[in-house]
Amino acid sequence: MSTTKTSKKKRFKLTNENYYSKEANQRYFSVSQVKDFLKCEAYAMAKINGEWVEEPTTPMLIGSYVDSYFEGTLEEFKSKTPELFKKDGSLKSDYVKAESIIRRVENEELFMNCMSGEKQVIMTGEFLGVQWKIKMDSYIPHQAIVDLKVVQKLRDISYKNGFRQSFIEKWGYDLQLGIYQEIVRQNTGEVLDCIIAAVDKQDYPDIDCILIPNEQLEFQRNQLLFKMQRIIDVKNYNEEPRRCGVCDYCRATKKLEKLILPDDLIVFN
Ligand SMILES: [Zn+2]
Repeated sequence: MSTTKTSKKKRFKLTNENYYSKEANQRYFSVSQVKDFLKCEAYAMAKINGEWVEEPTTPMLIGSYVDSYFEGTLEEFKSKTPELFKKDGSLKSDYVKAESIIRRVENEELFMNCMSGEKQVIMTGEFLGVQWKIKMDSYIPHQAIVDLKVVQKLRDISYKNGFRQSFIEKWGYDLQLGIYQEIVRQNTGEVLDCIIAAVDKQDYPDIDCILIPNEQLEFQRNQLLFKMQRIIDVKNYNEEPRRCGVCDYCRATKKLEKLILPDDLIVFN
């Protein structure tokens, strides 16, 4: 038997196990990482370097609860997440709500069809000169890319620069699916429909499947073009990350350097 020389530099293979690892986050861009950079560069870099770790919040756990139901791993998720339960072993009320959300969506054929694809499919690709990783909630080959969102209130609107926007624009879900669509196109040669399967947390949950127009996805990809070089420079340590001064990370690591004036307390966004 001949001995094969293995290269010293191990090739990194992205899997479900290492998808959220420090190494994966350093090697690849992801949409959530880019959103971190747009929120606060110092915070984004602290997360990438492992200096700032966030515990999952209750809304995040509710999302994961419903995600794991569709993935078929709910029992495993429950056994690995003791914070879902009260001392007497029963589910906390937030997760009882997650159960009622699941029962609600189970009765909607359209919703279940959207969520019937392959779960948590990982792909990688190159966009704007860097490597990206994506992980899709429900990937229906040749048809659609679907992302599941459990939101506070589906029909809440907010304002940006005087324009009304839905939760989709507010939380950058159109940017997220715009990137997914491009990476899937590179891997398969097909431009697929991009859908948000959304359900909210009202006592009687509102529910809808929202098809995001291709023009909106393209617009978001084009907008990112203008912001991406700065993000790449900061991530590659070629530019100093700027602190936003107001996020959790900035407040936790703030050092007082000088006296300020009352006007300095008024932050213009
Ligand atoms: Zn900050």
